[in-house]
Amino acid sequence: MAIREIRIAGDDILTKKCKKVTKMTLRTQILIGDMLDTMYESMGVGLAAPQVGILKRVVVIDVGEGPIVMINPEILEASGEQTGEEGCLSLPGKYGIVTRPSYVRVRFLNEKMEEVEMEGEGLLARAFCHEIDHLEGEMYMDKTKDGVYDVTSDEEELIYDDEFEGEDNE
Ligand code: ZN
Repeated sequence: MAIREIRIAGDDILTKKCKKVTKMTLRTQILIGDMLDTMYESMGVGLAAPQVGILKRVVVIDVGEGPIVMINPEILEASGEQTGEEGCLSLPGKYGIVTRPSYVRVRFLNEKMEEVEMEGEGLLARAFCHEIDHLEGEMYMDKTKDGVYDVTSDEEELIYDDEFEGEDNE
């Protein structure tokens, strides 16, 4: 496995729609391993294949509960609302305020190409929405209310505090 270069906002590939995966190949297995390595190395909670330059419907997520590999993910149901900070490995050092559903149910194929359904709330629901958007060529800054801000060291502390208080009280 290897670390791949993360494409940065402004790169055309991040605006393109990704293709469905029809069968598991060695190439796709290697891609998934590399995407996990790249996400952990960058300390992200999610990564979509177009972020490493591959237009396939593959996403990896880990919100601290172990890795989730999603192939051809679809949102089946979404409800509620949460408004909070969101960032992206393709826009390092920035964050923005985005409103997302607070509950999302998704269906996808796992690495064995078996169909799986999963529910997510809070940060996981936000990660499902954010990563699936990437597969449609969409990025979070187009969904922010007031655009994106620079993360300064002071704000980093603030964001951390807000998250801590916000997510747990919901
Ligand atoms: Zn992203």
